[in-house]
Amino acid sequence: MDDNPFTTPGTQLAVVEEFEPGFGAIEENGLVFATIPGLAKTAEHHATVTNPKAIQHLQRGDLVYAVVRDVYDSIALLEFQSVQPRAAFGTYGYIRIANVQRGYTENFRDVFRIGDFVKAKIHEVKPLGIYLTMAESGLGVVRAFCASCREEISFNETGMDMRCNACGRRQSRKLANAPQGQRPPRRFDRDRRPPFRSR
Ligand SMILES: [Zn+2]
Repeated sequence: MDDNPFTTPGTQLAVVEEFEPGFGAIEENGLVFATIPGLAKTAEHHATVTNPKAIQHLQRGDLVYAVVRDVYDSIALLEFQSVQPRAAFGTYGYIRIANVQRGYTENFRDVFRIGDFVKAKIHEVKPLGIYLTMAESGLGVVRAFCASCREEISFNETGMDMRCNACGRRQSRKLANAPQGQRPPRRFDRDRRPPFRSR
């Protein structure tokens, strides 16, 4: 692949058999994607994205692009790089379910799935980990992969009740560019407790 001009997060750079992910890139299902906006380059068996606006330390409020790597009940693990790369390599961070969107979220499945690309901000930098937030308009999923068949799914305007073109499965996301105030619906596929805890 030729060296590209400006690349945006989520753009496929290469296949992993040809180029390993280097700085600013990540592997997902054998493909290498950009995780930061910048100049893409494939050389010496590595696909990298560089951005000249490099600064030193991650801090609260920094914008990051991340891939959802694992999801637990109340916390999810993401691998991210700063939009302005300060850290040398990709870093793992966490997002608490309370910080995925404004208001109550019952289940991570309502907002993102493993493998999705999200736009988030640094919420806290703690000695034992970096915590992210998506609880602002403009933050959320920027690229989504079907929960059943892993094909990329195309968004509708709200991110609610989207249908996978490949397998037909319906699912929802908290999209970064959804209209303000929109929230994914609560799950329709199983019984659940009411969203309010008694005090
Ligand atoms: Zn599907």
